[in-house]
Amino acid sequence: MTPHHLHATAAAWSIHTGRQRLDVLASAEAERRGDTLTAAAPILRSPIHGTIHPIGGHADPVATLTTDRPPPRTQTWAQRIQRLHGRLTWLAGMYRLPAGRDPLERILTALPALTLPPRALTLLASHLADEDELVRGWLNQPPYRTRIPGDCPGCRRRSLEATTVGPAAARSVVCSADCWHTPGCRCPGGLEGVRHIWPRDTALGVVGREAGRAA
Ligand SMILES: [Zn+2]
Ligand SMILES: [Zn+2]
Repeated sequence: MTPHHLHATAAAWSIHTGRQRLDVLASAEAERRGDTLTAAAPILRSPIHGTIHPIGGHADPVATLTTDRPPPRTQTWAQRIQRLHGRLTWLAGMYRLPAGRDPLERILTALPALTLPPRALTLLASHLADEDELVRGWLNQPPYRTRIPGDCPGCRRRSLEATTVGPAAARSVVCSADCWHTPGCRCPGGLEGVRHIWPRDTALGVVGREAGRAA
């Protein structure tokens, strides 16, 4: 797995976790909407009012029924999920990934063995990172990472963070100081011009050795 694969995998699992939260919010939203419709129904059927179209002017007594609706520009959770699904489907299609039930599953399944030119892999990783930022932005969720002890083998700062979502084999460690691999850098497995990321085991091994040397 190249650093591109690691970045793409980390973003995909982050989206996976974010999407589970979106599903919960969308279900709650659908339930609330169901309640609203049930409450509104008797009024709409009322023999006193007759048949009234729910979208009326300001003088329309039933116009209050529409005030609970979100303003047109506010997206519902269901719409956000739909948007994400569309983007991921587009992405899986663009990379001609094998068909599957769900575009994110297609991406996660294909990723480890995906052989593409570095440019194409960079693009895939950055598209996934964009979607991940969008999803976490909706949820007001910081990156699913935790600070770990040890210094970054690249910039020597105490800035290592381990991802906390996805299966153990997909976990990685990044430098939160946002440092990039350069030709002079002595970190293991770096790729020039790519933000530092290591498989979790590699990173912990290096940090352990460094710590042992310092002791
Ligand atoms: Zn660093
Ligand atoms: Zn490096």
